[in-house]
Amino acid sequence: MRRVAIVGAGPSGLFAAGQLASQNQIEVAIDLYDRLPTPFGLLRYGVAPDHDSIKAVAKTLAAAFDSPRVRFCGLVEVGTQVRASQLLECYDAVVYAYGAELDRKLGIPGEELNGSRSAREFVSWYSGHPDAHPQNLAGIRNAVVVGVGNVAVDVSRILLKDPAELSVTDMPESVLAELRSTEIEHVWLVGRRGPESAAFTNTELRELLGLSGMDVDLIGASVESIDTDGLDRKARSNVESIAKAISEPVPGAKRHLHLLFNHRPVAIKGLTKVEAVEFESNLDGSRIEVPADLVMRSIGYYGVPLPGVPFAEGRIPNLEGRVTEVDGSDRPGEYAVGWIKRGPTGLIGANKKDATETVGSLLADLAVAPQRQLADPDQLMASRGIQPSTLADWRRIDDAEIGRGNLRGRERTKIEDWHDLLALVFAEQAGDSAP
Ligand code: NAP
Repeated sequence: MRRVAIVGAGPSGLFAAGQLASQNQIEVAIDLYDRLPTPFGLLRYGVAPDHDSIKAVAKTLAAAFDSPRVRFCGLVEVGTQVRASQLLECYDAVVYAYGAELDRKLGIPGEELNGSRSAREFVSWYSGHPDAHPQNLAGIRNAVVVGVGNVAVDVSRILLKDPAELSVTDMPESVLAELRSTEIEHVWLVGRRGPESAAFTNTELRELLGLSGMDVDLIGASVESIDTDGLDRKARSNVESIAKAISEPVPGAKRHLHLLFNHRPVAIKGLTKVEAVEFESNLDGSRIEVPADLVMRSIGYYGVPLPGVPFAEGRIPNLEGRVTEVDGSDRPGEYAVGWIKRGPTGLIGANKKDATETVGSLLADLAVAPQRQLADPDQLMASRGIQPSTLADWRRIDDAEIGRGNLRGRERTKIEDWHDLLALVFAEQAGDSAP
């Protein structure tokens, strides 16, 4: 039996685990490591809580755990608690599937002011990530979101949506309470190029534009001047959706979405906290100032290096999933999948094809690799003082979340507190059930 470690139990790691477990060419045992006691990564902590259909992918991904060959090893931080090189002594192959954790910065004056943050922080918070800082939305009337990708659309929608509509989701109760208290009136969604070049996809855009009780206006671009004939389908649909939204007034609208295109932020202004953002037109250099109590940059993510593992331009260098040195030379036994392999782009489903490529490379290599004398991973963990959490521990968390949700007539309410999560992980030893 060959042994494979996967670092990261998010969508790409789980797709890879499922594919490795269901093939019959080579018998493999798979250990899935994650620093959290919960699997699903960005599906759990990145996909918006009101996107049920995408969340349903969890069922497909969880099928990997039906295999007795797959073991979930939570609460293990590879890179700090245990090094990748130590895993390589215990496994025939190690697959890095740990995503792209950091957000990019704008690099403009005022970015560190109170009230300026990354969309990622906001997403983590409303998704109930245990590391997220609580967000205080009291008194916030004007928000600016820089970037026009799907993450920007997600955070704008969560700010502008009627909180009553969000109360059916799995958002933690503390998040719902904060969102119910907001007095948000204006969200400025700002792209540095025109509407035809926006990164967001049309389904997500239409969902935002169609929110109830909200009107939409367009600044910095005019849809009439865009020649839609030469555009691809997504760009054309986006321009058409914007044209339709701005042509339909919403009498008595309490919330306003301002689409500002062809502008880049040059400064975030304020004395002790954010008060306004200054933008410069990329067409004629003119400047405008937009009032803001909250500024979220949503301009993409990038990966972090793992000690001892090659890293370049925010990714692990690889050829068809096989990790290489930065100069392109071979590095046998290590593989990459997902955002850390290809960069932070693509919907959840893109990871399936991506995993197929990496798993194909891995199996082809294993078929010809000589059997090595491997160390015992359980002994390695014990020697480092690590007690991984298990699938049974996750199922206890899962049950507790479903129980919390059912009490309120919902499918699930996320547990966002480390203390509560760990109480559930260790409940078995304590003879306890739920916090
Ligand atoms: P993204 O799609 O790459 O969009 C990044 C945006 O930031 C672009 O509009 C980009 O503009 C802009 N940008 C980059 N640098 C900038 C700068 N210095 N100043 C101003 N704007 C700047 O990234 P994302 O929104 O983080 O999404 C990541 C991936 O996750 C995407 O593939 C996305 O589709 C996916 N996702 C999907 C969903 C969903 O399906 N509902 C939800 C969330 C995320 P330029 O184009 O001009 O560079």
